[in-house]
Amino acid sequence: MVVVGVVLIALALAVVVVAPRVLTRSAWTIDRPRTALVSWSVAVLVGVVGFVVGIALVVVANRPVTDPFRLGDSPTHGLNLGVALLAVLAFVIAVRVRPGPEHEAVRAAIRSGAAPHREVDGTLVALVEADHALACAVPGRSGGVLVSTGLADRLRTDELEAVVAHERAHLSQHHAVAVGIAESIERAVPWVPGARAMARSTRVLVEFAADDAAARRVSRDAVRRALLVADETSALAVIRASRLQ
Ligand SMILES: [Zn+2]
Repeated sequence: MVVVGVVLIALALAVVVVAPRVLTRSAWTIDRPRTALVSWSVAVLVGVVGFVVGIALVVVANRPVTDPFRLGDSPTHGLNLGVALLAVLAFVIAVRVRPGPEHEAVRAAIRSGAAPHREVDGTLVALVEADHALACAVPGRSGGVLVSTGLADRLRTDELEAVVAHERAHLSQHHAVAVGIAESIERAVPWVPGARAMARSTRVLVEFAADDAAARRVSRDAVRRALLVADETSALAVIRASRLQ
């Protein structure tokens, strides 16, 4: 049991060290963002489960099955176990996914009903009065898709449909959860190699995945044009547009 535990810990550590290197340096992730996102999730799962189960196997090795933590021997064993469980609980609370404050502000804008709604390609979109280009998707029952009038006015019909399809893909593919988990892990264990790389990579990969969904729904050309109108100055927008050529 000790050997299996040590092998699991070694496997978990290997995955935590190797996966970020592979996933941030492989060119295929640009063309297959959803596969890359799944690969990050698998790496986290193998890393966490392998480490926890490995440690547990080493700790309870050669202990009686009825009392593996030897609580009967001494009350301090129970105290130690309690402290360990509290530490795990504190970690889970630290990692828990929280919506960002900007999400709450947008949610309030959508919920207030102050913004007029317009149907775009079958989706009810909240239009907020603002000159700068803005489009976002807020998950949940009180969420939805929001676009600024400044952006909507600058886009042709198929370009606006592409923007809405992109935002809808963020909702249907649960990108907020993926980014939330990656950013929570980054906050909780910033010293773990790859935690920061995973958060950065996830933020980019969800944009690629949403662009691909919008390209399938409308057209690659419409998504590309919309990107350059919406965000012509950002480096990421230029990269996103160029991968759709
Ligand atoms: Zn996006």
